Amino acid sequence: MNLDFRRQKAFISGSTSGIGYAIAKSLASLGCEVVLNGRTQESVDNALVKLQEEVPEAKYSGLVCDFADTSQIDALLEDLGKIDILINNVGIYNDQDFFKTSDDSWNEQWEVNVMSGVRLSRALLTSMMKKDYGRILFISSECAVLTPSNLLAYSVTKTALLGLSKGLSGLTKGSKVTVNTLLPGSTLTDGAQNFLEAVAQKTGQSIEQVEKEFFKTDRPNSLIQRFETVQEIADAAVFLCSPSASAINGTALRVDGGSVGGLF
Ligand code: NAD
Repeated sequence: MNLDFRRQKAFISGSTSGIGYAIAKSLASLGCEVVLNGRTQESVDNALVKLQEEVPEAKYSGLVCDFADTSQIDALLEDLGKIDILINNVGIYNDQDFFKTSDDSWNEQWEVNVMSGVRLSRALLTSMMKKDYGRILFISSECAVLTPSNLLAYSVTKTALLGLSKGLSGLTKGSKVTVNTLLPGSTLTDGAQNFLEAVAQKTGQSIEQVEKEFFKTDRPNSLIQRFETVQEIADAAVFLCSPSASAINGTALRVDGGSVGGLF
């Protein structure tokens, strides 16, 4: 297994916390130079301090960019330079009734979740093709397939990433560049932890009971019946971005604990 990332540079959108940070940390610990991204200088600086503590040998930098603001993306692209590995991780969701979800809410989720990946891929794929090496990985979600009705706009953006990723992989024909998608299941990030704590406080249940209830009612097909760890997602992402995943292109890999179901 070749997990050697030395002499490679990765950009991970939305990586000051959660799944993105876990991927950045794992790549950094395998010798990859990582560029972290968040919306504010403070969040980026804090994440870089944390990374330095957790992976002292890490090679890293940070770039501030709010993917909801197109003008900031143009500036980011100028600063980015050559990138070997692009992880389109940034994603936002609004937990909302379909009939109450405004156009603005649809548009914001589309901009951040889909157009960030469109713009970054458009800017970086050409140089990857010239170099004849590169990895683009989209972080979609189990929601791309489950499409829960309270997360419809979010889910549609995540389904769109499957088409975008598959289409872009077609542009890599005959090269050593790959474009893939990873579909995480419900993952224990700070946001999920806050959700569990809030419900526990509201209902008087323990956090363990709330988690059990969530999987029983909201994710009944989950085989693991628990939240995934960010490390479980990062491990799969690292493999897909590694030299060893050279024959995996145009694929969508579920790391959903079985929640989506089905044969494939
Ligand atoms: P998160 O909500 O913890 O946010 C991670 C980072 O994104 C933070 O650093 C935040 O500052 C940054 N961010 C948010 N909006 C941004 C913007 N407009 N511009 C730049 N940065 C921004 O994220 P997460 O839960 O770790 O999810 C990461 C990805 O995984 C997302 O695409 C999400 O849809 C997907 N996902 C998450 C779960 C889950 O259960 N957490 C499940 C399936 C898929």
